[in-house]
Amino acid sequence: MTAGRHTLVLATRNEHKVHELRQILARVVEDLALSIVGAADFPDVPDVTETEVTFEGNARLKAVALASATGLPSVADDSGLAVEVLGGCPGVFSARWSGSLGGSDLTRRQRDAANLRLLLDQLADVPPEHRQAAFVCAAVLAMPDGRVESAVGRVNGHLAYEPVGGNGFGYDPVFVPNGQTRTLAEHSDAEKNAISHRGNAFRALEPILRRMLPLQ
Ligand code: IMP
Repeated sequence: MTAGRHTLVLATRNEHKVHELRQILARVVEDLALSIVGAADFPDVPDVTETEVTFEGNARLKAVALASATGLPSVADDSGLAVEVLGGCPGVFSARWSGSLGGSDLTRRQRDAANLRLLLDQLADVPPEHRQAAFVCAAVLAMPDGRVESAVGRVNGHLAYEPVGGNGFGYDPVFVPNGQTRTLAEHSDAEKNAISHRGNAFRALEPILRRMLPLQ
C-alpha cells in the first residue's frame, strides 16, 4: 500500500461496509484522486471500543483514533437500526443485540443472523402499524491536525416478520424502506446505496471532504 498525500483511511474492517463506501464515494474519490484504504491495511492499529452512546460519538472515537495513529485523514461511520416500539433500540447496540462481541467465536454473519432472530422474536406479536424503524448512520471525517466534521443520514421504513432476500448484511433482510414492498436485502447494491442511511450520510459528507482534503 502506498499512503500518499491523498490517501483516505476508512475506519472499518467490515468488508461489506468498505465495499458500499467505495461505491458511494466513487465520484469524490475520482475527482480528488483519492486512494482509499481500509483499517485492515494498518494491522498494528488497535480497534477502538465503542464506548459512546450515540452513533456520532462512536464514529468520532473511531475516526479520531485512526487519524492520530496513521497521520492520515480518516473517515469512520457508526450505524444501526432504531426500532420505534423499542424506544430506538437496538440503536448503538445493533451489532451486539444478541450478546457481547468480546470473546465471541461467532463470525460476523452468524452474529448478524442471531441479532436478526432475536429482534424478530421480540417483535413477533407487534402488528404491522407499530413496526416502524429507521436505519441511522453518522459519518465522521477526522484530520490528523485534529479537525473533525460530521454528517448524519437515515432511511425510514418498517420491519417484516421474516427475513427475505440475499443481498446486503445485518438487518437488511427484514427492513422495508417506506414506499417499497421489497426488503433492503432484495435491493441491488446501487439501489440500496441510492436510498440508504450510509448513502445519505456520506453524500452529506461529500462537500466536507471536498473542502477539507485539498488542504491537508
Ligand atoms: P457498526 O456501524 O459497524 O457498529 O454496525 C452496526 C450494526 O448495525 C451492524 O452490525 C448491523 O447489524 C447494523 N447495520 C448497520 N448498517 C446496516 C445496513 O446497512 N444494513 C443492515 N444492518 C446494518
